Amino acid sequence: MAKQWENWSGSLQFSPEQLEKPESVGELQQLVGEVANRSGTIRVVGRGHSSTPLVATDDTLVSLENFGGVLSTDRERCEAWVRPGTMLKDMGEELLEADLAVHNLGDVNVQHLGGAVGTGTHGTGKNLGNLSTMVLGVKMITADGEVIERHIEDDPDFLRAARVSLGTLGIFVAIRIQLLPAYQLHRQEWCTGVEECMEHLDELIEENRNFDFYWYPRSDEVKLRTLNPPGESAQIPYADLLKEGQDWAPNIISKARHLPFDEMEYCLPAEAGPSAFRAVRERILKEHRRTVGWRTLYRTTASDDAMLSSSYNRPTVTLSLHQNAGLEFWDFFRDMEPIFQAHEGRPHWGKKHTLRAEELRKLYPEWETFQKIRRDLDPRGLWMTDYLRDLFEGRL
Ligand SMILES: Cc1cc2nc3c(=O)[nH]c(=O)nc-3n(C[C@H](O)[C@H](O)[C@H](O)COP(=O)(O)OP(=O)(O)OC[C@H]3O[C@@H](n4cnc5c(N)ncnc54)[C@H](O)[C@@H]3O)c2cc1C
Repeated sequence: MAKQWENWSGSLQFSPEQLEKPESVGELQQLVGEVANRSGTIRVVGRGHSSTPLVATDDTLVSLENFGGVLSTDRERCEAWVRPGTMLKDMGEELLEADLAVHNLGDVNVQHLGGAVGTGTHGTGKNLGNLSTMVLGVKMITADGEVIERHIEDDPDFLRAARVSLGTLGIFVAIRIQLLPAYQLHRQEWCTGVEECMEHLDELIEENRNFDFYWYPRSDEVKLRTLNPPGESAQIPYADLLKEGQDWAPNIISKARHLPFDEMEYCLPAEAGPSAFRAVRERILKEHRRTVGWRTLYRTTASDDAMLSSSYNRPTVTLSLHQNAGLEFWDFFRDMEPIFQAHEGRPHWGKKHTLRAEELRKLYPEWETFQKIRRDLDPRGLWMTDYLRDLFEGRL
């Protein structure tokens, strides 16, 4: 019987005919075979923290929540094999026991590894790539039910396609990731004015391992957040230090978020960041201040080479808009989106946006290469839904 499914914020709801939680690769292969034989559709879901309909289907939804845990670690090479249904928080704890840690995390650490990699989830830091950049190899079930294994050493182009693939090449069942020796970070949070922040923005980005800022439309002030190795903490004379703390990186980069929200985030060429932020601020102050109290977040990520990464081939600034879950957000987001598009923005795959293949293919130089790899692996479209066809091929 179809049961209603909803994402974290409640803004995405659908009723899959079946929700399956296989416990082994064999079970998953059998399921893939059954659904493929009746020409059905499968979508794989992580923690359901995306708010675009990437996982929406009226057929079969597969959760890999029974595919959790670190499979093996290699401290010398700083690598691990991890199952895709591992929550990032749990992965951080398990890896710390092996004296290893990820290079970065996003704002929260409750996503599954498979889901976070699948959309190119990122944190902040000019020299730090999104989480998909740590993927060195994958084992995945393809549409014909086979388990394939690919590594960066022998098939780099496949890895560049698979890293950010939105669950459309196959289902990851194990992921080999590059790590760092476990390390600590000192986190500081500061309050200052917008103009002070913008005047010193380049040095703030340059001089801190992780730097981002939130702008609050109601107070028109900003909160700066810096993370640095102990002993190299930030000194910011024009800002007030609000709080600070130190811990192992996986315990201190992310924060718990209890209040659900909806979000639009665009990834822009780094040099366009300041002018896009000024345009966003001006527009929100003029049109949306009364209805939107939530902050705008400014972050940076390093360039990478995954075909569908929103940081593909360019150092990136990301700008995200938030609205409390349950409040109207589309009027606000739709009004702001042209600013991002005017700055050649690429939308975060898991956050609200209105772009489809017509616009997206112009933003991704290897778009067609990715689509060919996808069609070759899945000619009938086992992993495809109307939304994904729209996204990849064009409006229906
Ligand atoms: C509170 C909150 C905070 C967030 N913070 C950030 C942030 O700081 N930075 C950022 O970039 N994003 C952020 N996001 C967005 C979020 O990280 C992404 O949407 C991410 O993809 C969600 O992970 P998930 O495990 O919920 O995956 P889902 O949303 O369930 O799935 C995402 C995609 O991954 C695919 N997928 C999942 N598992 C597999 C698998 N085993 N094999 C193949 N494909 C798979 C799915 O099919 C889908 O296409 C945030 C979202 C929320 C709600």
